[in-house]
Amino acid sequence: MESLQKEHDRLLNKSNLSKPLTSIDKILSALTTARAQISSDPTSTAATAITLAKLQNQINPIVAHLNDDQKEIHSALTKYGKALDKKFKTAASASTDYEPLNGDRESGLISRAIAMHLIREGSFDVASMFFQEAEEKGEMLDIEDGLTREFRDLYEILDAMKVRRDLGPAIQWARNKATLLDARGSNLEFELCRLQYIWYFMGGEIGGVGNKRALEYARREFGRFQDKYLPEIEKLITAFAFLPTIHSSPYAPLFSDPERMWTDVSRSFTKEFCSLLGLSAESPLYIAATAGAIALPTLLKMTSIRKEKNTAWSSVNELPVEIPLPPRYQFHSIFVCPVSKDQTTETNPPMMLPCGHVIAQDSLHRLAKGGSQVTLKCPYCPKESTAAQAKRVYL
Ligand SMILES: [Zn+2]
Repeated sequence: MESLQKEHDRLLNKSNLSKPLTSIDKILSALTTARAQISSDPTSTAATAITLAKLQNQINPIVAHLNDDQKEIHSALTKYGKALDKKFKTAASASTDYEPLNGDRESGLISRAIAMHLIREGSFDVASMFFQEAEEKGEMLDIEDGLTREFRDLYEILDAMKVRRDLGPAIQWARNKATLLDARGSNLEFELCRLQYIWYFMGGEIGGVGNKRALEYARREFGRFQDKYLPEIEKLITAFAFLPTIHSSPYAPLFSDPERMWTDVSRSFTKEFCSLLGLSAESPLYIAATAGAIALPTLLKMTSIRKEKNTAWSSVNELPVEIPLPPRYQFHSIFVCPVSKDQTTETNPPMMLPCGHVIAQDSLHRLAKGGSQVTLKCPYCPKESTAAQAKRVYL
């Protein structure tokens, strides 16, 4: 892995395109000047010839430079490619089993996922180019018109927080959407105002502890949150009593890491903003690609074992191995039947017996061989019931 890292670093160093770009700019300006000179006196062939000769003299060395720069990048890229091939001997072939991947342009699902990802990441220029190209290819992306504008707003608000440490636009947005946020049980507005208070308290951009602005802010803004967040507000205000020794006081944790608070609040903001648009907080394409990258080594190993042992895996929707993903990548609760050890599905859902024990529907049917009215004993306690009394559990 070390050699790979080395080649990657080298590529990163070499792939600086600023030199070629400067060269191209120089060529462009030489061409523009020459064109202006020629068009100012288009009848004089002698003058034109001189201008062209000069132009050639000017441009030739720049082009030579450009080629050299390109060679450097190209060789670094080739070396990196070779290092990759050496490290990862098994080629992961792209699956074409799935409809979105089999090149069906009409559905455009993959393109849609990419376009959505670009918008969500704030790469609006790239996204608009992508849209244009997709349109030329006749792909249907089916993305709402207003979505780019919404995300532009989001990035403006996040930028204000990140660059200027200005919570104003974020608080304004949260206030405008207060009803919707409340309905979701979100405490975003309070979270934002609390950070504003803490930022003032810490002296914010002015420096020094215990800014008077914090107290004024609390008086002006915290009233509206009293019903819901009184204990929290009390803590924030009482901290004033410990002003000179705040970092050794019981209130120290409230003020210990303002940088992290900014990151956390930005994340909460993004999450709530996306959820009001009906979107997840993180780009699904990013999650899918990351989860795929985590799973790839296991999948490759599985493929090679299958080839070696010549075994086939018949279950289409399930992998024969478990691939543990980090907790934040787990979105659905699953239920595994304690009797059959099968994971429950839509067609074989979990069923709860009157005693409260849950087993899969197939297991229940097996227990109640004679039909839904036959008395069966729960596999986990002495209680008896019938299959008809079992209720489906929705996860
Ligand atoms: Zn039971």
